[in-house]
Amino acid sequence: MTDLTNLNKLVRAARDAVEARGETFYPGPSRIHLAAFPPKERWNDWVELDSKAWPARVEKRYMLVPTTCFNCESACGLLAYVDRDTMQVRKFEGNPEHPGSRGRNCAKGPATLNQITDPDRILYPLKRAGRRGEGKWVRVSWDEVLNDLGDRIRRAITEGRPNEVMYHVGRPGEDGYTERVLAAWGVDGHNTHTNVCSSGGRAGYHYWMGLDRPSPDHANARVILLVSSHLEAGHYFNPHAQRVIEAKQNGAKLIVFDTRLSNTATHADHWVAPYPGSEAAILLAIANDVIQRGLYHREFVRRWWNWQEYLAHEHPGLAPSFETFEQILKTLYADYTFEYAAAESGVDAGVLRELAGVVASAGTRLSTHTWRSAAAGNLGGWQVPRTLFFLNALLGAVATEGGTYPNAWNKFVPRPIYVPPHPPIWNELTWPREYPLAINELSFLLPHLLKDGRGRLDVYFTRVYNPVWTNPDGFSWIEALTDERLVGLHAALTPVWSETAFFADYVLPMGLGSERHDLHSYEQYDGQWIAFRQPVLRAARERLGDRATDTRQINPGEVWEENEFWIELSWRIDPDGRLGIRRWFESKQTPGQKLTVDEYYAHIFDHSVPGLPERAAGEGLAPLEFMRRYGAFEIAAQIGPLHERRVPPEELADVRVDPLGRVYTRAPAPATSNIVPTGSPEPDAEGRRPVGVQVDGETLRGFPTPSGRLEFYSRTLAEWGWHESALPTYIKSHIHRERLAADQMVLISTFRLPVQIHTRSANAKWLNEIAHTNPLWIHPGDARGLGLRTGDLVRVETETGYFVVKAWVTEGIRPGVVACSHHMGRWKVREAGERQMMATVSLDRSGGRWSMRQIQGAQPFASEDPDTLKIWWTDVGVHQNLTFAVHPDPVSGQHCWHQAVRVHKAGPDDRYGDIAVDTARSMEIFRQWLALVRQADRYSPNGTRRPYWLMRPLRPSKDAYRLPDRGRPAAVSGE
Ligand code: SF4
Repeated sequence: MTDLTNLNKLVRAARDAVEARGETFYPGPSRIHLAAFPPKERWNDWVELDSKAWPARVEKRYMLVPTTCFNCESACGLLAYVDRDTMQVRKFEGNPEHPGSRGRNCAKGPATLNQITDPDRILYPLKRAGRRGEGKWVRVSWDEVLNDLGDRIRRAITEGRPNEVMYHVGRPGEDGYTERVLAAWGVDGHNTHTNVCSSGGRAGYHYWMGLDRPSPDHANARVILLVSSHLEAGHYFNPHAQRVIEAKQNGAKLIVFDTRLSNTATHADHWVAPYPGSEAAILLAIANDVIQRGLYHREFVRRWWNWQEYLAHEHPGLAPSFETFEQILKTLYADYTFEYAAAESGVDAGVLRELAGVVASAGTRLSTHTWRSAAAGNLGGWQVPRTLFFLNALLGAVATEGGTYPNAWNKFVPRPIYVPPHPPIWNELTWPREYPLAINELSFLLPHLLKDGRGRLDVYFTRVYNPVWTNPDGFSWIEALTDERLVGLHAALTPVWSETAFFADYVLPMGLGSERHDLHSYEQYDGQWIAFRQPVLRAARERLGDRATDTRQINPGEVWEENEFWIELSWRIDPDGRLGIRRWFESKQTPGQKLTVDEYYAHIFDHSVPGLPERAAGEGLAPLEFMRRYGAFEIAAQIGPLHERRVPPEELADVRVDPLGRVYTRAPAPATSNIVPTGSPEPDAEGRRPVGVQVDGETLRGFPTPSGRLEFYSRTLAEWGWHESALPTYIKSHIHRERLAADQMVLISTFRLPVQIHTRSANAKWLNEIAHTNPLWIHPGDARGLGLRTGDLVRVETETGYFVVKAWVTEGIRPGVVACSHHMGRWKVREAGERQMMATVSLDRSGGRWSMRQIQGAQPFASEDPDTLKIWWTDVGVHQNLTFAVHPDPVSGQHCWHQAVRVHKAGPDDRYGDIAVDTARSMEIFRQWLALVRQADRYSPNGTRRPYWLMRPLRPSKDAYRLPDRGRPAAVSGE
């Protein structure tokens, strides 16, 4: 704190000195007043001294070109320093014009430079030459690839097999781009990684507010409560982390729940390390304390909770008054005492009581967040965000300064040039009827569903996605991917080699963050912004007057970008336009010609981003030029409580008000507005759309839930078979102590390392030097009992096999719990791959029994980058995820990552990195978890597969929602 205060003083002094000379101090929209940012007026010709030439003072001249980082989901701004002599990128720094990241980055942002110069990167399209997975490749032309893919997809569509086309994404680029591509093809083939990541987090928020993410206003909070390691690994890591620290500087208290001493926990005022899975019990004990002491925001609860709906459905005989509800509320959570929560969590009841006092002291300035962490670890983990947001809802800290907003209030998704219709089809490989309430596709079950005979794929795209390594049960993925009866063709769209790309038919090189186009907007503070990812060398050349018509003309080798790829592929599928596909990828300016990315983005910036054309004109630029020049634009700040806004009269035409106050209208939605919350509550029986909710006699915008209010009581959950979970509650995890054998421990495998990011950062030498292994955290008491010291080999036994890893004895983990980061353990069987971070392994298989042994770790090697000769590390960690069976939560669909394990000292035959797995056992466990579901066929209250109002990334037509045996139209096919 002292250092930061001094720094601020120094910055102020620097500003005064600059201004005293009559020069402009560069504040930028970052509002952080660091003098180090080059003024944007000089981005075209920025001069720096060459550090490598020191002590000679050699000037280097740069063109500074913005883009956005692609190394996590935060989309921070980057500035590429393009050397004007060589027209190559020399470094990346932060973009001060980006309102979310404000010129700052984590280590992974500048390391983009390592990625673009990685000697092992894939530069040309490759086709497999031997058997799938054999490791033999030949270079092919993009034309050959496009014709082959186009022919196969066309056949699948015209032969009535559209569900055999699937696109499976790990890191999406732009909101909705590929969903629209698939909709244009008329296929329901969108699949994401989300159920191994954030579905649990999303579900808890979605059932409350109809939106699946929170937007905490950390910077203005009085108390910040994080159920995650948010400063180093949370969602919107750097943009949120810098605001959390700002709040702390201003005196806010930081509470962190983390079983492990994360970097975030080290910054906390109150760190609690609960037994994993008990987090919701603690949150409910705090809620109960707030309720019993009458500390909740009575007016907010009265106006915005759906208590009327709760009383109508659960207590129809009682007077429907708020006072009645308050009396019931007092009884609902009375059993969640601090003593109960202490018994569940292992955290002292006195500490919990103190925490409750701190939380209540926040009033409406309580910012909270959880995302992966406990929500992704536990059966019923989705109740962690539901009980966390319960505290906000009690205190009225919703869409307040320093509170927590629904994400759509602080995000802007513009209308694109075309919006194709919803595909008239349902794909049960991604949305099986066992999981009608899942928040995203049941993506990690794909191999199990394929092996179960539920379908096949003819063309399967993976896109910046590495399920063999990232997902649980990777050997089942290999079994599915190598079986051509299940997967006819696999095309891996990827910037780097991955364990999954090894099992592809085509490996197609895609651009990194500085080599591609995308649009982003994320909820990182109370404002709305939009940021433009762009190929920086293409933008630099265009500033000099060159024109590129295809990003491959500029990128290294034949590296492409998906947006141009999808346009081109769609033309190959429908070359003459007869299928009605091509028209969605044609120019509006020159009909009959191919849509270009310039026209695509110019259309959005010209027509769909409020304020941008005027702002650009102020600088004499077209909107597209403005975004190519500065990379980001803030549309609005201080949005405030959108749910309190009155619905304007022009949106109230032929309205109907239901008995609980939901208002439906026939007036069309405004064309370009983010004021209407996203989400899709069900229209009424006569086709009117929900537009607001009546509160105290006024029609206000409300929330995009069925009731229009915050849903303390989820009628959806109650009606679809989960009545016992309809209120915020505590579900005992699959690793609850009652379910563990005496010799079992809990393994936490969900945590990130601050400088690594799944598959993509294995090609960043700076990051790899900092962090390259994943030892098993174990408490000294447990280590003593097992006779372990730091560095000893341990065998960790899971339900399906085991892995062998090194122990790290530390007091930074709760006794009885071990932890191992999922970021490490990259491997390759043959030469191709990331040599700086992949071990070379042998793979053996006998039926479903697999084993892996490391032959060689990372080694120095000669390449065009002399630094690869200096690689000093050999240990690249252990791929623990291979040994995890699938655990789909029956409500959210989230894979529940925590494992019940047995930990032993390794035996004489064990080697570091050894892995053994039985995939037949994996299938058994898949079926055990499948038995927990309450499937749509039995529980659907209205004959549909899924509540229509719940989000779905690619939404099919409404007809496709009907269960087939309940009168589904004949046009719906593909099962
Ligand atoms: S937090 Fe780091 S990795 Fe993520 S976008 Fe920002 S700079 Fe990139």
